[in-house]
Amino acid sequence: MNDSQIKNWLLATDKDQQNLFKKACSVKEKTFGKRVWFRGIIEFSNICQNNCLYCGIRKGNKKQERFKMSPDEILSCLKFIDKADYGSVVYQSGEMTSNSFKNYLLEIVRLAHQNFPNLGITISCGEQDFEFLKALKEAGATRYLLRIETSNPKLYAKLHPAEMSWEKRFQCLKDLQKLDYQVGTGVMIGLPDQTIEDLINDLHFFVENKFDMFGIGPYVIHEDTPLSNDSEVQRWWHKNKSRNFNLSLNFLAVLRILQPNANIAAATACDVLSPLGRMKVLQIAGNVIMPSVTPQNYRNKYLLYENKPCIDENAEKCFYCLNQKIVRAGLRPIFGEQGNSPFFYQRKNV
Ligand code: SAH
Repeated sequence: MNDSQIKNWLLATDKDQQNLFKKACSVKEKTFGKRVWFRGIIEFSNICQNNCLYCGIRKGNKKQERFKMSPDEILSCLKFIDKADYGSVVYQSGEMTSNSFKNYLLEIVRLAHQNFPNLGITISCGEQDFEFLKALKEAGATRYLLRIETSNPKLYAKLHPAEMSWEKRFQCLKDLQKLDYQVGTGVMIGLPDQTIEDLINDLHFFVENKFDMFGIGPYVIHEDTPLSNDSEVQRWWHKNKSRNFNLSLNFLAVLRILQPNANIAAATACDVLSPLGRMKVLQIAGNVIMPSVTPQNYRNKYLLYENKPCIDENAEKCFYCLNQKIVRAGLRPIFGEQGNSPFFYQRKNV
């Protein structure tokens, strides 16, 4: 597929957009049918050493009260995931590289692996060194999500403080592949200064580097961050909500056509721009949903962006609500399966 075709698709509206969605959906259904896999996500800590300019839990946001769940609290969440039969857990948090954080993460991975040996375990805790990633794998983790955020190092530099490096993040993705993880990445869509060419290059970047899973969603403002503090960015963002939602859908549809067998998650941020945003993603391109199992009292402290949905709900309510929405969207919730990436097996020739 050449760049001008991709560009037309990314900008498609009306009938062209419907045709794109139809094509993506038929590609998706060839591999996955109408099946949707679950991962119960535990957002276990908002303590973060980084200062990403767009993120609400950045270290510099002094207004944000911090928390870290105890292993006992995590065990209760795991029991819920087991009862709900989601098949997989995702541990997500702010980024920390201290030894105490590493030991804690190893402890909770073992907790999951030893108590629930059939559970798929995914980690989403930022950039970590090779040895630690190896130890996590040995403890039972099999998948890792690390969004590159943008494939353009210059745009990356505008969104992150000088001490963070695109090359280091990319290296970490390579390390994960070397360690035989199923590796997920992604970008935010509708970032200030992001061009259509950037998005085209993101798609090439994904295909060339053979990623197994994707978590991709729109950028959403957060008042207490430097990026959204700019009133021009705020105005621009509000004005372009619908454009950015459509751009996200088109991007995911093209990605599905380019990577038929990869797992694509419907990001929660999609629901901020459109009430049934995640369901639209699942109808068009996605095959994975990550219901929050984070205890209710912590939900309003894990706000990467504003207007995050489901923060007044508990794990039980998210279970029923998402199930119902998935069925109403004409799709089929699948329980009791880890739902590993078919592309991973293809890549590994097994
Ligand atoms: N600290 C870990 C995981 C938590 S952040 C890491 O860095 O990987 C998870 C993802 O949330 C980020 O990769 C980013 O793409 C997304 N995110 C952060 N702030 C956001 C915002 N304002 N709008 C939309 N997505 C955001």
